[in-house]
Amino acid sequence: AEMAVARIGLAGLAVMGQNLALNIAEKGFPISVYNRTTSKVDETVERAKAEGNLPLYGYHDPASFVNSIQKPRVVIMLVKAGAPVDQTIATLAAHLEQGDCIIDGGNEWYENTERREKAMEERGLLYLGMGVSGGEEGARNGPSLMPGGSFEAYKYIEDILLKVAAQVPDSGPCVTYIGKGGSGNFVKMVHNGIEYGDMQLISEAYDVLNIKDDQGEGYLVDKVLDKTGMKGTGKWTVQQAAELSVAAPTIEASLDSRFLSGLKDERVEASKIFQGDFSSNLPVDKAQLIEDVRQALYASKICSYAQGMNIIKAKSMEKGWGLNLGELARIWKGGCIIRAIFLDRIKKAYDRNSDLANLLVDPEFAQEIMDRQAAWRRVVCLAINNGVSTPGMSASLAYFDSYRRDRLPANLVQAQRDYFGAHTYERVDIPGSYHTEWFKIA
Ligand code: NAP
Repeated sequence: AEMAVARIGLAGLAVMGQNLALNIAEKGFPISVYNRTTSKVDETVERAKAEGNLPLYGYHDPASFVNSIQKPRVVIMLVKAGAPVDQTIATLAAHLEQGDCIIDGGNEWYENTERREKAMEERGLLYLGMGVSGGEEGARNGPSLMPGGSFEAYKYIEDILLKVAAQVPDSGPCVTYIGKGGSGNFVKMVHNGIEYGDMQLISEAYDVLNIKDDQGEGYLVDKVLDKTGMKGTGKWTVQQAAELSVAAPTIEASLDSRFLSGLKDERVEASKIFQGDFSSNLPVDKAQLIEDVRQALYASKICSYAQGMNIIKAKSMEKGWGLNLGELARIWKGGCIIRAIFLDRIKKAYDRNSDLANLLVDPEFAQEIMDRQAAWRRVVCLAINNGVSTPGMSASLAYFDSYRRDRLPANLVQAQRDYFGAHTYERVDIPGSYHTEWFKIA
């Protein structure tokens, strides 16, 4: 039998796996690595040598890979989500023993993790679904980690995760035990949805600032084809929002914008049909506009994060996960793409009131929105007047304007539902449920 040289193992050595393995080795935890295509194993071993003789051992076959890990064994998988994860589990589990643990570090659909956790449990194996955020750079130098599933398994590798995660001064490592079942994957999924929102809002700020200031040439970003790809987590976030009846218009607008961006050929044709001058030719104070866009971006972002947090909160209630929203904001402060000082304010808002109905009504955020709403409206109006679409900022503003009103025209929607479908309605003045034959009272 081979010597058990490693504290932990990692299978799947593409961008994420390779960099996370090197990160773990660099923190002083001997690690064994494996990949279906063995050239990636050799590549990783070479990198470990080049980056300072890190304690990393490569294996070309799964049996010796698994046997090289100290018991109870822990293997992190970083392979493509879906079927490849099931195939990798089958390969590994054939060699694992009672009490060993598998961790899926990919962007997996949370229900797949829950299914696998049950199947593993029946074989005496522990399972974690751990969101890993921060891309290549984060994986190598410190990601934000969102582990969910077996608490026992989490405790066993906590020392590694605390060292490997991004470190944020005054707020600690960007990792926490998220909760049971697929909660780690779910939280990572919504994190990605929030990332869609951030990216969309930033692109709109750039678009609005381009009004009457078309430099034409000089920037690489202007040479990038205007087609955004996607891998699914944003769509899942929007689908979950709908399943949970949580309004998430900013994140939805970001997803829709990606769909529309994909219709490049159609848009080119449409641009020929809708020709003309869409600019308002009203004077624009450039300095004022830059400041206004800054405020609009921030106010929109508050709405977007409020929506993401509400999705997580609703799911946590449905599943009984007991998730700590403030703690989630804390572990997103570093490592991941949405890192921002702003997250510290979100954490404080949930510290003040863990039961907060909506970020918007936290006293500090409420004030920040009030201070910015005039600028926010100016930016959205300017964009509309000039034919520049700002779906994220507009959806955020509409979200705010709907949420803050004590009375909406929903009465007329309900009245129509009663008119057409006899769905009944309640009254503001008398209790009870009513149906009216509306066509008779005309
Ligand atoms: P990836 O391109 O998603 O997957 C490539 C890896 O999956 C390779 O190791 C590949 O092995 C393996 N694989 C594919 N099909 C397999 C199968 N049927 N059996 C065994 N192995 C199989 O890699 P990635 O970009 O590093 O991402 C890994 C995971 O992390 C994904 O879930 C991804 O969504 C998530 N993630 C990625 C990023 C990012 O910035 N890239 C950020 C956060 C999270 P071979 O080499 O043998 O083909």
